Amino acid sequence: MNAGPWPGGSGYGDQPRPHLPLRPIWLCRSCALPWPCATARLALVAEYAHDRVALSVYLCAVLHDAAGDLYRLNPHDGPDPATLFRRFLAWVPRVHPAPDR
Ligand SMILES: [Zn+2]
Repeated sequence: MNAGPWPGGSGYGDQPRPHLPLRPIWLCRSCALPWPCATARLALVAEYAHDRVALSVYLCAVLHDAAGDLYRLNPHDGPDPATLFRRFLAWVPRVHPAPDR
């Protein structure tokens, strides 16, 4: 018996969509929260678990792109730089260098 409601495998249906940014408005494609949403943050931390510096570099690039997009969309009332910093970078777990004692 293989007569389910989904003929073939279209890829949609019950598949959860990845929490990726929808540019240029920078909302999550899956949950519609400002990206990176909590799920996206967890996925990023997991993806860059072995290279937190690379995660910070990546997020700096993302912040740069997002600031450009958001200011272009809303040139007179764009997002506050401090808010953008908190949203894209400040949540990243800090890398603590090994104590040098
Ligand atoms: Zn999301």
